[in-house]
Amino acid sequence: MILLNPKRHERKYPDDASRQVMLKTIEFFESKGRGKVKADDRDRVWYADFLKFQSENKLFAQLLTPAQYGGGNEEYRWDTYRNCEFNEILAFYGLAYWYTWQVSILGLGPIWISKNEKVKQRTAQLLKEGGIFGFGLSEKEHGADIYSTEMMLVPQDDGTYRANGRKYYIGNGNEAALVSTLGKIRKPGEKETDKYERFVFFVVGSKHGRYEVVKNIVNSQSFVAEYALNDYPIYEDDLLAKGRDAWDMALNTVNIGKYNLGWASIGICTHAFYEAIDHASNRVLYGKHVTDFPHVRKLFVDAYCRLVAMKIFALRAADYIRTASPQDRRYLLYTPMVKMKVTTQGEEVIDLLWDVIAAKGFEKDMFFEMAARDIRALPKLEGTVHVNMALIIKFMRNYFFDPGEFPEISRVDAPRSDDFLFNQGPTKGLSDIQFHDFNIAYDSAALPNVGIFKEQIKLFKELLYASAMDPAAESQAEDIDFLLTLGELFTLVAYGQLIIEYRNLEPEQVSEDLLDQIFDFMVRDFSKFSLQLYSKTQSTPKQMAICLKMVKKPVVDQARYGRIWNEHVYALKGQYAMND
Ligand SMILES: Cc1cc2nc3c(=O)[nH]c(=O)nc-3n(C[C@H](O)[C@H](O)[C@H](O)COP(=O)(O)OP(=O)(O)OC[C@H]3O[C@@H](n4cnc5c(N)ncnc54)[C@H](O)[C@@H]3O)c2cc1C
Repeated sequence: MILLNPKRHERKYPDDASRQVMLKTIEFFESKGRGKVKADDRDRVWYADFLKFQSENKLFAQLLTPAQYGGGNEEYRWDTYRNCEFNEILAFYGLAYWYTWQVSILGLGPIWISKNEKVKQRTAQLLKEGGIFGFGLSEKEHGADIYSTEMMLVPQDDGTYRANGRKYYIGNGNEAALVSTLGKIRKPGEKETDKYERFVFFVVGSKHGRYEVVKNIVNSQSFVAEYALNDYPIYEDDLLAKGRDAWDMALNTVNIGKYNLGWASIGICTHAFYEAIDHASNRVLYGKHVTDFPHVRKLFVDAYCRLVAMKIFALRAADYIRTASPQDRRYLLYTPMVKMKVTTQGEEVIDLLWDVIAAKGFEKDMFFEMAARDIRALPKLEGTVHVNMALIIKFMRNYFFDPGEFPEISRVDAPRSDDFLFNQGPTKGLSDIQFHDFNIAYDSAALPNVGIFKEQIKLFKELLYASAMDPAAESQAEDIDFLLTLGELFTLVAYGQLIIEYRNLEPEQVSEDLLDQIFDFMVRDFSKFSLQLYSKTQSTPKQMAICLKMVKKPVVDQARYGRIWNEHVYALKGQYAMND
């Protein structure tokens, strides 16, 4: 079974310690029970119980310490394969639990990337003591515009600095052992030679007298802080990096972190799915079960296929993250896709399920009520969908028109630390990155809906080629609104590619039926975005003509659809319910 079922936990692990981490975490939440999870959510209770549990079991220490700082203990490693599932389990039980882990990951990013051995050794020790961490990037006035950072380090005569300024929306800002903070070094009278030179990343402790927790900005269990540094003394040993390195550190950390957002969506949707199928299959209206309505079946089949696609895409992306190197930076396309595509698909899954369970989705005792609220967060954190799409578009030319040669990558589930994540190097040169030929995957799947999707891709390439040759289309390169829709179509191609690759590697997890049913929604989504592109103010007559050809209908196969409903979707009825 591809979806997580905490009560039948059957995932393959290379070592027993990793299995124990997952089983213990499941046990913690099942013992806490749904009633208490929901009550704590309602009352906005700081999750001290979860933090105590993780501290006692050294969970963050095991999962978030790179092997090199693990003191020879093999259980201590930064292993994306197992971190995927920890993400999924936490969000399965509540986004707040996931969030404290996620912002710890972000806070640790600049530290593990830095060359500051003293801070790294201190951090390894703090993790062992159960510490959590924070990432101080955002400021109230500047949003995505990090260039405008106002946090300032003022050099002192004795070679130290004083930090002054405020950060806004900083998770764990109330309790973090260390908060990695981005600022600029003030150099009075000196002219800036480039826009990166003044940047600096440094660490502060949230319990220091000069660190002021101004407030919690959000109305939730999490503490998303505004904090102020008031003449906070900073020593050379507190600095993580300066100049362009500090800037790259911020972006490279977000590259690591944004991957987890998709897993949070997957965890939330999976739990919501079990609740929805149980409710609908047990509810009788006009003498019939709700799951006998054809439209309800359709909503469920669509939600299920979208959820499976989210998961297998994210799993396959992990293989590329784990094998990345300075020569192979393909992960830089796949991680923003996990962030942007998987999380927006998560919203769609919850919308579909909510259309079925309707009023039930509001009830205070249901997990679903939290899911419906929390699923909205993931597309908006760590850069909005737009910001990530703007990034993805940079890869489009090489992806379609200049593929590279790469050795084939299999599943990467070996127990090892993913050290490259902390050595990603400069963040520039994105449009030069090459990808392997997507046709290899598409040509390997001789299925009806994949065939139709391939026709759509061929037309899309035609559209891109025609646009490059057409002077009337030149101004489109500046029109973000147009590019966002173009990016949606590109994203679908890369999404389908990794889904097929995963299926080829794990055929027993994803049947041919299921793959073809997934491509049923892929064909429909491609058609939807084609029509949107057609309608854009800037689309040219040539583009409009191709867009209309890209609108296609998936192959109707009632037998396959029936098997997916019976064997995959309805079969989940009664399979999981959280302990009360
Ligand atoms: C609950 C929560 C927790 C958070 N935790 C943290 C944390 O721990 N640490 C931290 O540093 N930050 C944190 N953040 C901040 C978060 O990362 C930002 O809110 C997010 O990146 C979006 O920024 P913004 O909301 O200010 O949008 P803005 O940057 O103000 O964007 C406004 C609009 O402009 C668009 N836009 C902006 N730039 C571009 C671009 N280049 N291309 C295309 N469109 C663009 C956006 O898509 C959006 O539609 C948190 C936020 C929340 C709500």
